[in-house]
Amino acid sequence: VKRIGILTSGGDAPGMNAAIRAVTRVALKSGVEVYGIYDGYRGLVEGYIEPLTRNDVGDIIDRGGTILGSARLPEFKDPAVQEKGIMQLRKREIDALVVIGGDGSYRGALALTNQGINCIGLPGTIDNDITCTDSTIGFDTALSTVVEAVDKLRDTSSSHHRCSVVEVMGNHCGDLALWSGIACGAEIVITAQTGFEETEVLERLKEFDVVKKKRHAIVVISEKITDVDAFAKKVSLNTGFSGRATVLGHVQRGGSPTPIDRVLASRMGEKAVDLLLAGIGGQCVGIKDNQIIAVPIEEALDMPRASRKRLQDLFDRLV
Ligand code: ADP
Repeated sequence: VKRIGILTSGGDAPGMNAAIRAVTRVALKSGVEVYGIYDGYRGLVEGYIEPLTRNDVGDIIDRGGTILGSARLPEFKDPAVQEKGIMQLRKREIDALVVIGGDGSYRGALALTNQGINCIGLPGTIDNDITCTDSTIGFDTALSTVVEAVDKLRDTSSSHHRCSVVEVMGNHCGDLALWSGIACGAEIVITAQTGFEETEVLERLKEFDVVKKKRHAIVVISEKITDVDAFAKKVSLNTGFSGRATVLGHVQRGGSPTPIDRVLASRMGEKAVDLLLAGIGGQCVGIKDNQIIAVPIEEALDMPRASRKRLQDLFDRLV
């Protein structure tokens, strides 16, 4: 391996820059040149590719987003489009690639590997929705952002006998909701895994009001489950609380990465380079029981989501 490329793809996440920095610095120290590919697979296909020096990745470890930019290019599923990307790499004698992104990005990385360009995937997403890793780069930062916001909502909810219904991200993965629910002492957490029975949730809220005499209630709910504005109105109509919906939205994607995310990204970036130097491709990096691991992408995409039953049980015992 003489030259490697690096790109960020799909939704951005805090800590992607720390990963770009780690890949670049570790590779350069091993005598390998590094090329930054801008705007994900789009820049790969269009040839928006520039060398990265160690200074290019200085002063970015604390910055959210990605200095390389990210994009979605649905056409990249087409082998003819992939071929254009491969030509761009061959022209520059780039023999291997690090792809930072989610499941979709991994599929692109697998396709390229199958056509002779070794690729390693790093999990960059705030959703924690990649099954082969305990945590993804960006999850810890997003969790901190959610917790800070919910803590503030709690203050004002208590003053006004309110029920705050807070919608958080997660892309069908309930981790952001469940972790923040525990961290913020929420009354109710609703995820794809818990399911959502509206009348049952309203009954439980009434109990918090009438029986438990709570001055406020926090309901944390994953995105893509229900219309939270409509649900908050039903809370006002059917319980003693005044319901207010807050959709946290894209603020969850931003901000300076936490130390945990910076260190995770650095460890994973190192692993990606070591794998490529060993001539390995088609794998993605994860962390299991605090060990950095690598799993074939094909296997990773097929893994069932780990059960969060223990944590859900804990949540239930805390309310
Ligand atoms: P994420 O990587 O965060 O899951 P997406 O699912 O949007 O985000 O995927 C990011 C990009 O990866 C897509 O825009 C596309 O360019 C590429 N991609 C997604 N699925 C495939 C696939 N099956 N084959 C090749 N490339 C893909």
